[in-house]
Amino acid sequence: MKRIYVLHFDQNNYDKPVVYQLIRNFDLVVNILRAVILPRKESYLVLEISGEEELLERGLAFLKNEGVKAETVRKSVRRNEDICISCGACTAICPTGALYIERPSMEVLFAPEKCSACGLCVNVCPPRAMEVNF
Ligand code: SF4
Ligand code: SF4
Repeated sequence: MKRIYVLHFDQNNYDKPVVYQLIRNFDLVVNILRAVILPRKESYLVLEISGEEELLERGLAFLKNEGVKAETVRKSVRRNEDICISCGACTAICPTGALYIERPSMEVLFAPEKCSACGLCVNVCPPRAMEVNF
């Protein structure tokens, strides 16, 4: 099982070595996709985590116990369907294929489970339909 999560830290837990512990104690494979760590301030990591489902659930419970909020990217990255004009500009820049053109309809679709929250789509979108919020 492989999923992408956004981990939210606060001034009390931003310096905890949770990535190391996820790897060592829960046998998970952790790939850091994005990191903003600000001493004594709200910080976040975007992680791709893979491993056995039970161990992943235990790892998530460990994070919760440490006061680290782990959310799927779906909660942080949204497309405003009301203003997207399906121009396709975002599909050329999206590195994970989360934004893609479905053929033959040529509709631009968004698959949040593939999104790495890189934010590249935000500035290329003419009507600013993509929102990345942490
Ligand atoms: S760039 Fe914006 S408007 Fe164009 S398809 Fe992507 S999300 Fe929709
Ligand atoms: S933030 Fe945008 S460009 Fe980056 S992976 Fe997600 S959908 Fe693609």
